[in-house]
Amino acid sequence: VPELPEVESARATIEAAALHRPIADVDDTDTWECRPHAPGEIRAALVGRSLTAACRQGKSLWCETGGGGPVLGLHLGMSGRILVTGAAGALTEGGDRLVGPGSAAEQADRNPVWTRFTIVFADGGTLRLFDKRRLGRVRLDPDLGALGPDAERITAAAFRARVGRGTAPVKARLLDQSVLAGVGNLLADETLWQARISPLRPAGELSVEELDRLRRALRAATRSAIRKGGVHTGAFIAHRTRGGSCPRCGATLARATVGGRTTFWCPVEQL
Ligand SMILES: [Zn+2]
Repeated sequence: VPELPEVESARATIEAAALHRPIADVDDTDTWECRPHAPGEIRAALVGRSLTAACRQGKSLWCETGGGGPVLGLHLGMSGRILVTGAAGALTEGGDRLVGPGSAAEQADRNPVWTRFTIVFADGGTLRLFDKRRLGRVRLDPDLGALGPDAERITAAAFRARVGRGTAPVKARLLDQSVLAGVGNLLADETLWQARISPLRPAGELSVEELDRLRRALRAATRSAIRKGGVHTGAFIAHRTRGGSCPRCGATLARATVGGRTTFWCPVEQL
């Protein structure tokens, strides 16, 4: 499931390979992925323009287009990846991590039906949204107003004010995209384990020192995951199994549903 680091890899893919290439054609005929737009509506808005910037806030990804053109929102859903080919066919890709053999390109070639949206550039290359589970979304001028500050970039003061309030468990607060944008279930568990804070603690009861420690852990875990290729690379993630033990102290991990999500933590160190 894409969290902030996976979406960042999709954004970086677009920035590296898809900007400033004139758009010659668009396949927007998947009416589910492109809802509420009618087939041809996104095409009409993009043909003749170029993508001029690739932006991300939390798990939301969008592209700006030149000359007063629309914003193109690209939501990766539960398993989406962005594949960009150059004029000579070279492939750049990023997004949710690949599970199983073969690259997404090979999977797409075997199953072209999983390509839900395609931009064809005038140079012959393409940008494709590869989305096997069809839970992604492509839309013009998406509403980004409800998102909180990005989890990687939020300041200490904003983090204290937004996260450190209320009676909800701190993990639920971290997962609330209107409080803070970009934290999913795995990144939340990794961050709380790194910061040695229990996911069950009421957010409003955390001290300033604990909130600062939590923000530093979040930023470090996010940047490490971006660098290493996804949230699954976190030190804690592989141990999140029934009967798993803490990779720091060896204690058997606790498990419960917190914030509506399956949560693991070290009951000895996370207080
Ligand atoms: Zn431990």
